[in-house]
This record gives sequence, C-alpha cells and structure tokens, in this order.
Amino acid sequence: MQNVQNVQVACDNCGTELIPGAAYCVKCGARTRRARRLVRLAIRVELLFFLLVVAIVAGFVWVYAVQK
Ligand SMILES: [Zn+2]
Repeated sequence: MQNVQNVQVACDNCGTELIPGAAYCVKCGARTRRARRLVRLAIRVELLFFLLVVAIVAGFVWVYAVQK
C-alpha cells in the first residue's frame, strides 16, 4: 500500500479534480501520471519485442551466412 501516496487526485496541467483511475483529465485532456506510467511500460515492452525480432532476424542472417 505504498502506492497510495502516488495516486493522483488532481490534474498536473490544470488542477481539475480527476476521476479515480482516469487516464486523461476531463477538462484539458492531459494524461495523468498513471497513464504516462502505463505508456512508458508499453514502450518498454514494445522495445523488448522489437529487440527480440532484431535478434531473431540477426540469428537467421547469421545461420544463412554460415551455411554458404
Ligand atoms: Zn487538466
């Protein structure tokens, strides 16, 4: 329950009170901290997936090069 302090109650941009668990401010549309954190997480997962694909492609290229 250490996250309780991180729960955002007001918009960082305009100060409007936020709906609990909201991803965006209803007034100005700014992302909440929670939403930004989720976006960062999604980017990290995507990057990891991208690196995995790159590794697979590099592996195939290597196998192809070795076979020649
Ligand atoms: Zn706002």
